[in-house]
Amino acid sequence: MSNWLAILAVFVGVPIVAWAAPAPSQPARVQLNHVRRFVLDPGHGGDNLGALGTGGIREKALTLAASLRIAHWLRQNCDVQVLLTRERDDAVELRQRPRLANDWKADALVSVHANAHDQGEAAGMEVFFLAADASAEASRQLVEREEGTAAGAPNAGKPWSVGGIKNDLALAAAHARSQAFAYALGDALQAGRKKVRFRGVRQAAFGVLKEAQMPALVLELGYITHPVEGPQLFDPAVQDEFARALLRALVALDKRLGQERKAEARQAAQKK
Ligand SMILES: [Zn+2]
Repeated sequence: MSNWLAILAVFVGVPIVAWAAPAPSQPARVQLNHVRRFVLDPGHGGDNLGALGTGGIREKALTLAASLRIAHWLRQNCDVQVLLTRERDDAVELRQRPRLANDWKADALVSVHANAHDQGEAAGMEVFFLAADASAEASRQLVEREEGTAAGAPNAGKPWSVGGIKNDLALAAAHARSQAFAYALGDALQAGRKKVRFRGVRQAAFGVLKEAQMPALVLELGYITHPVEGPQLFDPAVQDEFARALLRALVALDKRLGQERKAEARQAAQKK
């Protein structure tokens, strides 16, 4: 406290110390150097309801509530700019979602969903990064359900383009970054989970991942159809666990991008 403030405190007779001192309990916000903008994509919305959970809960409501909570937590705890593809119960076209992230020049994208199981027995969260071809039957069915691309659905048979990635080398590098981001998130989820089971990191040919020009993942928060896990996913404490894990994954990605850029600079210097 400066001298004149101390004199003023004595003169006025009020304890200025209370507001002049910095709050000691406030942890430092995490600063990132290369991941500057992060896009969260709450799956579904509007007339696209997503999966139907126990007690009539809808996936579109869960993905929005969880994404808003995660965005709020990240804004408080790190200096990354967090943007959402929707902030209300809006219908956003599937292809529009990665395009928004591309237009915003995002450094990372995570599309938030919840899984469903016919008998309601399955439980646990999963992380997906892009598979060149989704040969695994389970992944193919998940993509069809999430994107409404099953036979007869409006999007069936429409091919996706791998947007904006100029050559095989760039594609391989982008894919490796998404893979590293996925495993970093998987590790963080596994370490930080208290309630929701972790099922693993997998690959699937989600359209949102094909079109993204930055490291991109699909996060299945858990099974909305599970009688215990479904309602738990709406718990703010559980949603904060996802936010914490996402921050750890963003920090890992930031470190990797830093190392890549250093290596590029070294190579460029050697060529001169
Ligand atoms: Zn979904």
